Amino acid sequence: MSLAKRHAVVTGSTSGIGLAIARALAKEGADVMINGFGDVKAIETERAGIEKEFGVKAFYNGADMSKGAEVEAMIADAGAKMGSVDIVVNNAGIQFVSPIEEFPPEKWDAIIAINLTSAFHTIRAAVPGMKAQKWGRIINTASAHSLVASPFKSAYVAAKHGLAGLTKTVALELATFGVTANCISPGYVWTPLVESQIPDTMKARHMTREQVINEVMLGGQPTKQFVTVDQVASLAVYLCSDSASQITGANLSIDGGWTAE
Ligand code: NAD
Repeated sequence: MSLAKRHAVVTGSTSGIGLAIARALAKEGADVMINGFGDVKAIETERAGIEKEFGVKAFYNGADMSKGAEVEAMIADAGAKMGSVDIVVNNAGIQFVSPIEEFPPEKWDAIIAINLTSAFHTIRAAVPGMKAQKWGRIINTASAHSLVASPFKSAYVAAKHGLAGLTKTVALELATFGVTANCISPGYVWTPLVESQIPDTMKARHMTREQVINEVMLGGQPTKQFVTVDQVASLAVYLCSDSASQITGANLSIDGGWTAE
């Protein structure tokens, strides 16, 4: 297995894309620390399941990504439990949709904190160890919204553009240390979160399920297909491989052609 003896922290990995990335890294032999909110029993079942299924060690840390001190403590905890932090995947993210003049300042602050500033904290905490061992992988789940905007998503778009800028800066600082930093920028990904929005949108817009999917969700995605969480996870695994050692500072789109338009 290509990632045996590597140790990964994946933020926001109790659900969706983060969970798929954590499981894919574990499948390749990496020990993982998962993080995120949710039902305590369900998280423990997932954690134990990763250990059983893939024969690796899996840990859970419930740090709130909006709190810098908790983020920093999580990286220390990961280092103490796993021996090192070789891979950091900054994936936790939230969304809020509102016209700019009505955008609640506390929602703006939360989105910037969780979607952008938490990555600053994980990276600054993990980099000394990565530099010392001359190997590391930093992967940031950005979005098509790190490259283009949509109306009513000011905080999210600002945070994701910021994350892309942070990624490039860190890539340059670490270029000679065997540490890469890249963004993965998905378009619409089929996650439970997305699926659960369909019934309400059907009601609100008087549309069929097919209309919601094709006109609302996939309207801007030229392939007219969702990205899958496993496709995103495969790209993350690839970025951790030695084949990807010269990919750094990149913003890799996986968006069915969305940002080509
Ligand atoms: P999701 O809601 O399924 O997962 C989000 C994860 O973040 C969960 O584990 C949640 O518990 C965790 N989280 C939220 N707030 C947190 C906090 N304060 N502290 C710690 N954990 C927290 O969403 P997803 O669709 O899997 O999204 C994951 C990432 O992918 C996000 O950064 C999102 O912006 C990005 N993304 C998603 C899509 C999509 O279409 N689903 C597209 C592009 C980018």
